[in-house]
Amino acid sequence: MFAGHVGAALIVKRAAPGVGLGKLVAGALLLDSLLGVFVLAGLESVKVPDDFASLHFLRFDFPVSHGLLAALSWSLVALALVRKKWGVEAGNAVGLAVFSHWPLDAIEHEPELPLALGSPRWAFRSGTSCRSPSHSRRRSSPAGSWRTGRSRAGAASASRSQPAPSWR
Ligand SMILES: [Zn+2]
Repeated sequence: MFAGHVGAALIVKRAAPGVGLGKLVAGALLLDSLLGVFVLAGLESVKVPDDFASLHFLRFDFPVSHGLLAALSWSLVALALVRKKWGVEAGNAVGLAVFSHWPLDAIEHEPELPLALGSPRWAFRSGTSCRSPSHSRRRSSPAGSWRTGRSRAGAASASRSQPAPSWR
């Protein structure tokens, strides 16, 4: 998703050509930078699940950096700080670049993005790889349908209980 976030910065750059691309890319990647800081500080976590070899997805617990309310708050903080230092256009553009991170992650991630601290976890659609018929059906569900996230334990047990794909 790194390329997607940089792409979002490039789109914002087209709308605000006077703002430096470095500021916009840094803004678009701010939530992941905060995730790294908060993981080191013990506030958030990233775990390698037992089925990582087949699913290729890490499990995140990141409400402070990647919650919807948190993303909005970080966007407003960035907007205010950048606006104060570099002006209104730069502040608005960087704030938008920061917030662009959340919907892109909601498309890519498993349902693990909280709306706020302690809220249910969401994703726009699953990024689960197509390794069984049920995953294939989930991938073909109409865009725009939101799915609530199960608990990690529930998701793990559900994925274990799904039938093995038949490759004929
Ligand atoms: Zn992210």
